[in-house]
Amino acid sequence: MTKIHPVLDPLPAFWSRDKDDFHEHRTTAELPAEADIVVIGAGYAGTSVAWHLAHDAEDGTPARSIVMLEARGVCEGATGRNGGHMRPDYYGHIPHYIERDGLEAAVELAEFEISHVQALKKFIAKEKIDCDFVLARSVDVWSNDEAAAKAKATYDAMLQHDLDYMDDVYFHHGPDAEAISGVKGAKAVASFTAGMMWPSKFITHLLKSLTSQGLLNLQTFTPVDTVTGSEASGFVVQTARGPVRAKTIIYANNAYVAGLLPEYRNAVIPCKGICTHIKVPDGKTPPHLPNSYIERSEENVLSYLIPRPDGSIVVGGSSRLFSPFREQWYDNVDDTTLIEASKTYYDGYMQRTFAGWEESGAYVDKAWTGVMGYSFDSNAHIGAVPGKPGQYILAGFNGHGMPLIWLGGKGLAKMINPGSPISESGIPYLLRTSQRRLDRANDSAAEFGDIIGDGSLRPTSRS
Ligand SMILES: Cc1cc2nc3c(=O)[nH]c(=O)nc-3n(C[C@H](O)[C@H](O)[C@H](O)COP(=O)(O)OP(=O)(O)OC[C@H]3O[C@@H](n4cnc5c(N)ncnc54)[C@H](O)[C@@H]3O)c2cc1C
Repeated sequence: MTKIHPVLDPLPAFWSRDKDDFHEHRTTAELPAEADIVVIGAGYAGTSVAWHLAHDAEDGTPARSIVMLEARGVCEGATGRNGGHMRPDYYGHIPHYIERDGLEAAVELAEFEISHVQALKKFIAKEKIDCDFVLARSVDVWSNDEAAAKAKATYDAMLQHDLDYMDDVYFHHGPDAEAISGVKGAKAVASFTAGMMWPSKFITHLLKSLTSQGLLNLQTFTPVDTVTGSEASGFVVQTARGPVRAKTIIYANNAYVAGLLPEYRNAVIPCKGICTHIKVPDGKTPPHLPNSYIERSEENVLSYLIPRPDGSIVVGGSSRLFSPFREQWYDNVDDTTLIEASKTYYDGYMQRTFAGWEESGAYVDKAWTGVMGYSFDSNAHIGAVPGKPGQYILAGFNGHGMPLIWLGGKGLAKMINPGSPISESGIPYLLRTSQRRLDRANDSAAEFGDIIGDGSLRPTSRS
């Protein structure tokens, strides 16, 4: 059985080139003996909830003492290894949710995701965070005839719901798709507002700010082994460096959550994904791409892509190539190795795919993997851990955490301080963790199905 803990020495991601001494930060040399709140995980989720606990308390007093425990360095999990693409779901999985859960719940989720883009743009500007945030259009491309026709049918069906947010979606099906998208052989193209950024710069900025103001004690390289106790007696968080006693626990350890909460073993499964950084040799200037992309090849291989301001490219995906080889990625926490079945897919990718890049000499400068928390029903789990008062979860974000976590963390902070009910937290219904969702994952014999993804890996199994 897989041991669900982060492994040491993951492949270095392109994004980790910004890391400085803070990567190994320990606010105090000694592990604190106690805290009001222990947050497990120093990625996007842990940082969001810690930030909002520290800054959003309604009575104006920051939430008590917070200790964050991280098995690796700062932001070395999925957040530090992803595609940097903040792309809300307008019509990707939303039609499935409409069918499965009803229009209201599905639209609530879509609007929550869409609201992240402006919320983060505003927050990053206000806090003056240097993280290469760009507000752009995300361009969706289909190069397979059948897939393009299906995309058009989905778009038309979404228009029937008369949703305001669909006003932001542009769609074209036909020969001009190639010229509009810049992708050779494109049969259909869509676009909508999205963001791109350097995720670890964003997280590191926030954690530096919290620790320097005395609002957070961060302890890196401190893996948590167990959590025992109860809300009444207090919890004991046992780490490799000794115990920390706490009144409240927040599990923000995403793919690895079942390592500490076994009841989530079938609800959140660790699965690997692959990403690369592509560079152009000095002296070559292929067309700059101003937009981000989801590109689906004629063979329906999906890639998510963001252009960097320096003209380089971050692109990953290709799950269709490796999904048949489950042992290479499914229930797998080994991000020290690439995924064999797709490890050369991005060699020559820009030349094959984008008009004007044929003579660019573009080459893969770095390739890496990361571990995502695949949720059984495709939705993240946020809220109070069922049957465990004083324990909270914010995990299971698939390949799609960027437009969910910031406001998900804000909502969870609100549940903890001042103690709002989840119905008043702003957390969409579909993201609320519950015993019902755990039971469904545990009881169902359904397997994770094909991966259709929306820029990265997501399961399609639905019950
Ligand atoms: C290759 C790849 C590409 C992706 N691309 C995109 C994209 O373009 N857009 C998008 O929206 N999403 C993308 N994602 C998904 C996105 O990165 C995640 O959904 C998001 O970063 C999850 O954030 P998190 O804080 O929940 O998890 P993480 O960033 O993984 O943080 C969890 C932390 O918990 C720590 N931890 C785990 N167990 C323990 C323990 N027992 N004790 C202490 N610490 C522990 C881990 O070391 C880790 O640092 C991608 C993911 C991958 C892997």
